[in-house]
Amino acid sequence: MSKHRIVIVGGGFGGVKAALDLSKDKRFHITLVSDYLDFRYYPSLYETATGGRKAASSIALSEIFENTSVHLLQDTVTDLDRNGHFIKTSVGHMISYDALILAIGVKTNFFNIKGLEQYSYGIKTEADAELLKHHLHQQLLNEQKPDLNYVVIGGGPTGIELAGALPLYLHKITKQHNVPKRTIHVDLIEAAPRLLPRMPRVVSKKIAKQLRKSGVKLYLGTAVQAQTADALMVNNKPIRSHTVIWTAGVSNNSFYAEHDFQLARNGKVRVDQYLQTEPGIYVIGDNADTPYSGMAQTALYDGKFVANNMIRIANNKDPKPYVAKRPVYVFPAGHKWAAVMWGELRIYGWLGWLLRRSADLVAFRDYEPWKLASRHWLAELDTENDCPMCLSNAAGDISTVTENS
Ligand SMILES: Cc1cc2nc3c(=O)[nH]c(=O)nc-3n(C[C@H](O)[C@H](O)[C@H](O)COP(=O)(O)OP(=O)(O)OC[C@H]3O[C@@H](n4cnc5c(N)ncnc54)[C@H](O)[C@@H]3O)c2cc1C
Repeated sequence: MSKHRIVIVGGGFGGVKAALDLSKDKRFHITLVSDYLDFRYYPSLYETATGGRKAASSIALSEIFENTSVHLLQDTVTDLDRNGHFIKTSVGHMISYDALILAIGVKTNFFNIKGLEQYSYGIKTEADAELLKHHLHQQLLNEQKPDLNYVVIGGGPTGIELAGALPLYLHKITKQHNVPKRTIHVDLIEAAPRLLPRMPRVVSKKIAKQLRKSGVKLYLGTAVQAQTADALMVNNKPIRSHTVIWTAGVSNNSFYAEHDFQLARNGKVRVDQYLQTEPGIYVIGDNADTPYSGMAQTALYDGKFVANNMIRIANNKDPKPYVAKRPVYVFPAGHKWAAVMWGELRIYGWLGWLLRRSADLVAFRDYEPWKLASRHWLAELDTENDCPMCLSNAAGDISTVTENS
């Protein structure tokens, strides 16, 4: 009997979870197409940028799918033929499907602010995080003093966790490079009048207090106007800096607009109660217009949900309707400090940080057996103490790192 061909696009939280769950059922032939060979554990990327181990934010897809029946293909999906039931990839593969799951994530959006794309750093990918870390070290090596200001733009979860981690890391590497002691300025800029504008006020307040305590200066209600090679324009005044990190904007993957999907006002894809856009095509995770879209936990939940329904259908059972699940929100903001919102419960400080660490272990375990999950989790507790620039200088390959400032 021929197997039901399921093609999944995107090797992130949603796509990988769907593939793993479906692979337990031998009636399916599963192909996972992803442009990257690694699964990116985004919640730890800020740590990779500030001296954490790469293993904490990146897992090879081949490791995750070892000993499963999932066919892995590294390629970029560029086209969809709905009538022919196949997708096309950048190298010309045409892959037929009986069911298609799309989970291709979001893209950074610079909102056409002049100079930002050219001069700012980001932490959306492993490469971004490494580039930022290299820049921090290189600058200290070149100039023997810290930058005038380290500026993080965006008072959302990513901006908060990065700004919270920067002061300590900058102190550490300043000492490491024997740079004379100076005050380090880390600024966090947010256009809304408070951090995390969609979260309860009390949470924003507590986080703001904690960040200030860690040495971060907050610019709230402040919109960025432009960036040049040496400064960021804010309120018609320049903030002198060679280290500006943009975390403030994402938009849905343009694939959907280019292929006539129905979009909601926020640019996400409209889905029905089974997360379908049309019969046989499912859109999940960050791409779908669901109440808690934009969170790793939601993408994972969606992947599980769609896989479960496909198995139900194969068993001649009715699929279940989608019930959105409110995630547990965790916002790290400084050394061993996090704010947690778990339903009505609020936890702040070291205990919050401990919960975040436990949640990471559970998340890694969702994708890997205990042994491998523990290895990645333990890597989070470890740090890279060598300077990446000194190492590459010693190896004579400094030219391999591209500086953009
Ligand atoms: C820095 C950062 C920190 C975060 N921290 C948290 C956190 O602490 N907690 C939390 O819940 N959420 C967090 N998030 C959000 C969370 O990571 C996302 O909600 C989650 O990754 C969404 O999963 P997804 O499967 O929809 O997309 P993704 O995980 O982004 O996966 C999409 C995949 O598709 C691939 N792809 C894209 N286009 C194509 C194509 N055309 N062809 C083939 N492959 C393609 C991409 O390379 C990627 O591998 C964070 C996000 C960032 C950027």
